[in-house]
Amino acid sequence: MAKIGLFFGSFNPVHIGHLIIANFMATQTDLDKVWLVVSPQNPLKPKKTLARDHDRLHLVRLGIGDNPKIQASNVEFDLPKPSYTIDTLAFLKEKYPDREFALIMGGDNLASLHLWKNYEQILEGYDIYVYKRPSVDLGDRAAHPRVHICEAPMLDISATYIRECIRQGKSVRYLVPDAVWEYLESGTLYRQ
Ligand code: ATP
Repeated sequence: MAKIGLFFGSFNPVHIGHLIIANFMATQTDLDKVWLVVSPQNPLKPKKTLARDHDRLHLVRLGIGDNPKIQASNVEFDLPKPSYTIDTLAFLKEKYPDREFALIMGGDNLASLHLWKNYEQILEGYDIYVYKRPSVDLGDRAAHPRVHICEAPMLDISATYIRECIRQGKSVRYLVPDAVWEYLESGTLYRQ
C-alpha cells in the first residue's frame, strides 16, 4: 500500500524550506509520496496578508514543478472550516482506502500536539515524521512509537520573511523556487 506523507501549511507563499523538507521525506524515509496540503483561509483569522487559496495552491504547484513524488493538495478547500487535521485524515482515509497516510511536522508542532483536536487519536492512528527545528526541544513525545525523528536540513527561512521582503521591494530570488520567483516578480501578490 502506498504510504503518503501529508505536510500541512498555509504556504503563503511556499519556499525552499518547505520543499527541502518535502523532498527529504519523499526520498529519505519509507514514505512513497508527499502531499503539500494547502490550508484554506481560516475564517476566524485576519486575512490581511494571506493570499487567496487558489493563488497559494498555484504557487505550490509551480514550486514543486515536475516531481512524481511530491504533489499539491487542495483537499481542505471544500471541507468544513476551520479544518482540523483529524477530520481531514478521516476524510482522506475514506476517499483513498488503498493508501496509508502519515503526517509530517516540525518539532515545534510535535511539542504542542496536545493542543490539537483529538491528538491522542492522531498519535494512535498515524505515523508522524518529525523534522527538527532550530532550538526546539522535542520533549518526551519524541519517544512515542508512532513518532519518527528525521535529520533533515534546517533552513532559517519563513514565509513571513519572504512576504516582508516583497512588500519592501527586495529580491526573494533563491528563497523560493525560480518559477515561484518569476510569478511573484510579475504580479502584485504580497506587494501591500
Ligand atoms: P509564516 O511565516 O507565514 O508563519 P511558514 O514559513 O512558517 O509561514 P507555513 O505555511 O506555516 O510556513 O509552514 C507550513 C509548515 O512548514 C509549518 O509546520 C512550519 O513550521 C513549517 N516550516 C516553515 N518554514 C520552514 C523551514 N524553513 N524549514 C522547515 N519547516 C518549515
